[in-house]
Amino acid sequence: MIDTLGFAVRQPTDTLAPFRFQRRAVGAKDVRIEILYCGVCHSDIHQARNEWKGSNYPMVPGHEIIGKVTEIGPDVTKFKVGDMAGVGCLVDSCRSCLSCDEGLEQFCDCVVYTYNSPDTHRPGEFTYGGYSQRIVVDEAYTLKVSPKMNPATAAPLLCAGITTYSPLRRFKVGPGKTVGIVGLGGLGHMAVKFARSFGAHVVLFTTSPNKVADGLRLGAHEVVVSTDKEAMRAKANSFDMILDAVSAEHDANAYLALLKRDGALVFVGLPAEPLPIKMRYMVSQRVLTGSNIGGIAETQEMLDYCAEHNIESDIEVIPMGKINEAYERMLKNNVKYRFVIDMATLKD
Ligand code: NAP
Ligand code: ZN
Ligand code: ZN
Repeated sequence: MIDTLGFAVRQPTDTLAPFRFQRRAVGAKDVRIEILYCGVCHSDIHQARNEWKGSNYPMVPGHEIIGKVTEIGPDVTKFKVGDMAGVGCLVDSCRSCLSCDEGLEQFCDCVVYTYNSPDTHRPGEFTYGGYSQRIVVDEAYTLKVSPKMNPATAAPLLCAGITTYSPLRRFKVGPGKTVGIVGLGGLGHMAVKFARSFGAHVVLFTTSPNKVADGLRLGAHEVVVSTDKEAMRAKANSFDMILDAVSAEHDANAYLALLKRDGALVFVGLPAEPLPIKMRYMVSQRVLTGSNIGGIAETQEMLDYCAEHNIESDIEVIPMGKINEAYERMLKNNVKYRFVIDMATLKD
């Protein structure tokens, strides 16, 4: 067993505080990663506060992990000591169902998420995430990170990156397509970068007028402030796809109205409460669907694409001790555009 210090919440109303626990010893196919950086996803807040229900405590959040491999099991072939490695939202699955066979491990009935999941290696315990010094993961669920990437700006790719890359690829976003991105947060800013890089016409929708200039800088061709009814009306029936990355309750019908016939509104945002949908948009033959992170192979594809095209996250680096403040700022839409924890600040 490997002693580890992390930050945990102990009940939904708690703030995060230091927490000591043990990682499993390195098994034959495992890699041990000393964590350098971990991004802060809005899903960490939803789960720490039990907004989706079913949270398990104590909880060590964090699923945007990049670090250095310091130990490998005897059967590991993908990594050597000293390599940079990434861990995203999932650390295991059954490896034999249809979803696993298709590389869609996120839909496996037995998927083990990086935190807040029953830990198959330690019966009766739950997995602990990346707000911690180190992690031990089977190499099959560990990503290779090019040494030319900056580990701090690459960390958010492990969730915000793949969660936006995957649906944009699935809907074949590219030249000739008009794509809307809703919400300029961690996911939204990566979606803008990918959609632009894939060659689409990109329109950002934001509730924050002070993000317009950044939206354009990050790659949007146009930015619409969604509270401006006239500007919204002007965009009716014009989108092939809209990716909704909003973390809180909002009016999804406003975006269904902007789709072309057979255009798709794709949710990646996971507000805690259900959103009402007007059936007149459904019967006008618009598509409403969603997307959940991405499988391991596609996550590797996304990381390699980012290394090749110099795509990285815009980040604010924080020490571990500022995590509670960071959560409060995210809830006020005040992050540019992802907090990343510098794990060197988490000292024994
Ligand atoms: P984030 O950084 O906090 O960004 C969320 C953005 O949503 C905000 O910056 C804001 O953008 C907009 N927003 C917030 N409250 C709003 C409101 N009341 N009305 C309208 N817009 C609002 O969050 P994130 O980390 O990107 O995560 C976004 C959502 O995706 C979360 O619900 C998270 O759990 C979910 N998620 C899903 C997956 C998946 O696999 N499906 C993966 C990761 C995260 P503007 O200021 O531009 O309006
Ligand atoms: Zn996430
Ligand atoms: Zn499976």
